[in-house]
Amino acid sequence: MNLSILEKIMKKEPAFRLKQAKKAVFFDLIEDWSEATTLSKDLREKLQKEVSLAIKGEMFASKDGRTVKARIILDDGLAIETVLMKHSDRRNTVCVSSQVGCPLGCLFCVTGEIGFKRNLTASEIVEQVLFFARYLKKENEKITNIVFMGMGEPFLNWENVKEAIQIINDDNCFGIGARKISVSTSGIVEGIEKLAKEFPQINLAISLHAPNDRLRGELMPVNKKYPLEKIFQAVDEYIEKTNRKVMFEYVVLKNVNDSEKQAKELVKILKNPLYMLNLIAYNPNGRFEPSSPEKIKKFKNMLEKGGVFTTQRYRFGSDIEAACGQLAGK
Ligand code: SF4
Repeated sequence: MNLSILEKIMKKEPAFRLKQAKKAVFFDLIEDWSEATTLSKDLREKLQKEVSLAIKGEMFASKDGRTVKARIILDDGLAIETVLMKHSDRRNTVCVSSQVGCPLGCLFCVTGEIGFKRNLTASEIVEQVLFFARYLKKENEKITNIVFMGMGEPFLNWENVKEAIQIINDDNCFGIGARKISVSTSGIVEGIEKLAKEFPQINLAISLHAPNDRLRGELMPVNKKYPLEKIFQAVDEYIEKTNRKVMFEYVVLKNVNDSEKQAKELVKILKNPLYMLNLIAYNPNGRFEPSSPEKIKKFKNMLEKGGVFTTQRYRFGSDIEAACGQLAGK
């Protein structure tokens, strides 16, 4: 659905009509304008002709049924991927993409490998949420959490991500609380500053993946522009302004970033009660190998002994290439 066209049409109507139309689409989850009974018949017919509510997408479900990936085809024919993760405690998290491809080229990430095609519009970001909201409605369930951890770097498309967050958070639209929304960044410092200022309730996650600049620079070229010192400075300012915890993501790569020495280095940089570390099992894309579960366990124990609050993420959807770093839009 193209929000700009909707907004243009609604400019000729009283202001509350746009609110009613958005509520019909994002709250009532109508799939056809004829269902928007709060709008006049003429307006519904006009919208039916000019603002399509159809989403071109196909779905892939993992064997364990806990992950569903959607491949959405955009109006210009490009494809993006978005993932629904169903947690055992009835939380339903949607992992949203913010760009088609990504310009940052992290070595462990398939999205980075395909390069950057373009930024997504706010409508295209919101459409991913809408796709799964409609899907869950049929199961009598709702989206409870949103993470901007799909394709792309959200802070390189901030204006559109921001507009999408407003719709996701709006009680008349999806109504998902700010504290249930997370933005994950590779460490774009200006973005972290904007998040703290504009959305202090929204969670921040940092893709860390290495305990020092040398290794991080090899894995994530963006580290040359935003080295760890700058990132941690921005994170600490974010914490000072928001008093919120910050999650650091760490994909564990065999013989690359999983040694005892590296665990000790991590302990040194992550000793802060408001820092959390999330270990992610690597989903092989040809370049690296995953660490064994035993090695990850040992690594986690060392971090915990060193006082770092550490979690380990369930491996969602690796069989349908829906897991972290596997989204390619192929
Ligand atoms: S990990 Fe994130 S920032 Fe890095 S290339 Fe992949 S999508 Fe881009």
